[in-house]
Amino acid sequence: MTTQQNDFSKWYIDTIQKADLMDYTPVRGCIAFKPDGYEIWEHIQEEMDRRFKETGHRNAYFPMLIPESFFQKEKDHIEGFSPELPWVTEAAGEKLEERLALRPTSETMIGHLYSNWIKSYRDLPILINQWANVFRWEKKTLPFIRTSEFLWQEGHTAHVDEEDARKETMQMLTIYKEVVEELLAIPVYDGQKTPSERFAGAIDTYSIEAMMKNGKAVQAGTSHYLGTKFAEAFDIKYLNKANQHEYVHTTSWGTSTRLIGSVIMVHGDEQGLILPPRIAPTQVVLIPVGPWKKNPEIMEKLDDIYAVLKKKGIRVRLDDSDQSPGFKFNEWELKGVPVRIELGPRDLENNQAMLKARDEDEKHAIDLNNIVSAIEEELTTMQTRLFDKARQFRDANAHTHIDTLTELLQHINTSKENGSIPGWVLAGWCGNDACEEKVKEETKYTSRNIPFHPPTTKTTCICCGNEAKHTVWFAQAY
Ligand code: AMP
Repeated sequence: MTTQQNDFSKWYIDTIQKADLMDYTPVRGCIAFKPDGYEIWEHIQEEMDRRFKETGHRNAYFPMLIPESFFQKEKDHIEGFSPELPWVTEAAGEKLEERLALRPTSETMIGHLYSNWIKSYRDLPILINQWANVFRWEKKTLPFIRTSEFLWQEGHTAHVDEEDARKETMQMLTIYKEVVEELLAIPVYDGQKTPSERFAGAIDTYSIEAMMKNGKAVQAGTSHYLGTKFAEAFDIKYLNKANQHEYVHTTSWGTSTRLIGSVIMVHGDEQGLILPPRIAPTQVVLIPVGPWKKNPEIMEKLDDIYAVLKKKGIRVRLDDSDQSPGFKFNEWELKGVPVRIELGPRDLENNQAMLKARDEDEKHAIDLNNIVSAIEEELTTMQTRLFDKARQFRDANAHTHIDTLTELLQHINTSKENGSIPGWVLAGWCGNDACEEKVKEETKYTSRNIPFHPPTTKTTCICCGNEAKHTVWFAQAY
């Protein structure tokens, strides 16, 4: 049998399919999001969207097709993205005069438009977000985590100066951190990407990084300060208060349906998904047990509880199908439903029901008089408990005692031998690309980010032993 322990990748693929989150399609790397998978995304969207609007952003929509010439305008951008672009070359039976790319991101189209929309300092800042699909023809794909078409939001803002744009870059990174930690119960390290991991065309890229249950890292969101690079490429200028033309400073930031994959890889267990209550499509399932068909008052009671929960906005299901209780328990556990309530004739006699939290082994009795508040409380405490468990796991597998490449290789080998997770490594880095590259070649560990708040500070480079300029998280990454 496939377990998380013996084959994490297979466990992941099996689990998301069995739990009915997605399906493969004949198009390589393009998946179908089934309703339960899509609903997780909808809950992420709701919370992100609320926070974007709270901080003054508005949604807009831009075309999916981008003229080839737009990409030529910013050289780093085209260099980074050209290997991954799918092209439309023909329409209505005729060859197009200019190829159109399926957008991998929209800096170019939006840059083109902002150059018309922005005239004066009075037009700034411009704070726009788009919810859309994008395409990056990735060589290696994994459902949700890395797909050729994915859903995301991309923020694109323009500002009078560097200070304002940098403030925005950080504000959005903070929003990402808060949403991922509070909603998805995934602890992240926020920090700056090293130059080799920067977004194509950015001056600085910042990220939040999360640890999966196999110790691998996922870049869960990025925020970029683009300086005046896109403003120069697309001639986005404004008249300042002194009546002089100046380039705007732009930012962009994005999170994607990769977050769905991260939730599964952080919280799931051998029985299947464990979904944090705040994003679970079904938060509570009510299941009649024992000889309930002969006792109509069981269903009456469950109907009552269902109605009250529903009215409170709790996403509840009542499973009165003719499957056995054991079958139902497994099914809803596989789907990661946070709270299960069982009610049978003997429970009713004792004026109680049984409550089982998805992430705990034991069920316990709750008083029927307080059942709704007990469920509400469980949903809240489970959300916090999942975050705390994930943080404990991450901290136990984020190593801070490794200082040289030899030690890192040894650590990786020992982990392999004893079947433990090699996890992340906090290491010093001198700032040379060559050292970062060598670490990657020898260990497959790449730099994740330079954390803003590292658990400790390193003084020597893990590769060359010279003085460290930065303290960096290294990990194998998806
Ligand atoms: P970027 O525009 O490259 O900074 O990407 C923004 C965010 O989208 C990244 O931080 C990832 O979380 C996510 N992302 C990037 N590539 C993919 C992909 N192929 N599939 C799913 N999510 C992706």
